[in-house]
Amino acid sequence: MKNINMYKAMKSELDADIYKLVCSTGIFADSYGIKACIVGGMVRDIFLKRKTVDIDVVVLGDGLKFARFLADKLGGAFKGFEKFKTAKIFLKNGRIDISSARKETYEKPAALPDVVLSGRDEDLFRRDFTINSMAVSINREDFGNLFDPFGGVSDLKKKILKTMHDRSFVDDPTRILRAIRFEARLGFKIEKRTLRFIRKALKENIFENLSGERIREELFILFKEQTPAKAMKRLEQFGVLRKINPGLCLDSKALAMFKTIGSSGRLIRSYHADVPIMYLMALLGTAQPAQALATAVKLKLSNGQRHAIDHGKELQKLQQKDLGKLGKGSSATYFLLKKYGTEALLYLMLMQKDKKRAARIKYYLDELKHIKIEITGDDLKEMGIKEGPEYSKILSAVMKAKLDGRADNREEQLELVRTLAE
Ligand code: ATP
Repeated sequence: MKNINMYKAMKSELDADIYKLVCSTGIFADSYGIKACIVGGMVRDIFLKRKTVDIDVVVLGDGLKFARFLADKLGGAFKGFEKFKTAKIFLKNGRIDISSARKETYEKPAALPDVVLSGRDEDLFRRDFTINSMAVSINREDFGNLFDPFGGVSDLKKKILKTMHDRSFVDDPTRILRAIRFEARLGFKIEKRTLRFIRKALKENIFENLSGERIREELFILFKEQTPAKAMKRLEQFGVLRKINPGLCLDSKALAMFKTIGSSGRLIRSYHADVPIMYLMALLGTAQPAQALATAVKLKLSNGQRHAIDHGKELQKLQQKDLGKLGKGSSATYFLLKKYGTEALLYLMLMQKDKKRAARIKYYLDELKHIKIEITGDDLKEMGIKEGPEYSKILSAVMKAKLDGRADNREEQLELVRTLAE
């Protein structure tokens, strides 16, 4: 195979500050006396002329020790992971992930691997697809030299995703989600043999052995892709969603919501909403509440995320009669929506065909939600009203009056309390 040098491509494809950081890492690797390469996604993306910012470096030797040295030289913060012999360096202008070239063995399917230090080719062999199994030296003596033992460049040209060996997806089922991610993102095809391995692993119900956190992480990364709908269709086609949990389903309504959420990114971000949770709501559209809860538990969602899913389910069940309240006064809108979180409300808003209703939900999120009354329980106490459940009833009545424009200021609100307490 012809030797390929990537120096020119690195210089032209990487942002100047990233390129500088890669060069500095190489210079410090030389002074430390260790062989270092950039590896994985960065090499793939340089070839594909795609923007890449994640710097993954693999070294032949103890990456943890080298990473500590490098963090010190670059003035960055260091975080090491002893078990996997990897480390992250956090810098003002980016992050460098350092790993030690390693071989992985899987004691059980879908378990986390055991790790021993290895040579470069073995490290490349443990990776997911040939296009992600290339490395480029950053040491001075052979800067830019490409190591491509498994035909990654040829597969990039053929636009195919090819795995290394038949047990790959059994060892690590997240690779199935990764295959679908790269297929959708890059417009590549999963080659036939690899497809067979995926189907075989799925037949073995491999997702049952995989921890919920790892499924959630990969699924949420998929949701953040530019075209998650495309990837979801493929997941549904493979039957992956139901294998993860029977509550997850991509029917036509969910697909439509995926597209709507995808095209409303800016609006959703302006509310600082948890976008992956909104996609999950779409996939749980037909699930019974108990199934939705089981999915939330399986994916180890946080309490806040679980509540969001519950709210989403409740809101999707709202009857036309309830939704009709959105057309009435501000207080009717407020009291209908008050208990729900932002994600569920945004979801409800995006699924409305009726533009006026959608606008009312937006009005709630932008305005009504932030309205406060000018009196508190302390005022009621001072007025001699006995403490108890009455307080919340009175304060709600005051809120209703304020929302409907009947008690705008403190004086009017206190006057209203007097009449209510009579
Ligand atoms: P992205 O552009 O989405 O970040 P990436 O390829 O850089 O894609 P990372 O998750 O950052 O993906 O992983 C970096 C590299 O580590 C990959 O290119 C691949 O070589 C390897 N890798 C990551 N996850 C796995 C896995 N589950 N199995 C095998 N190799 C993996």
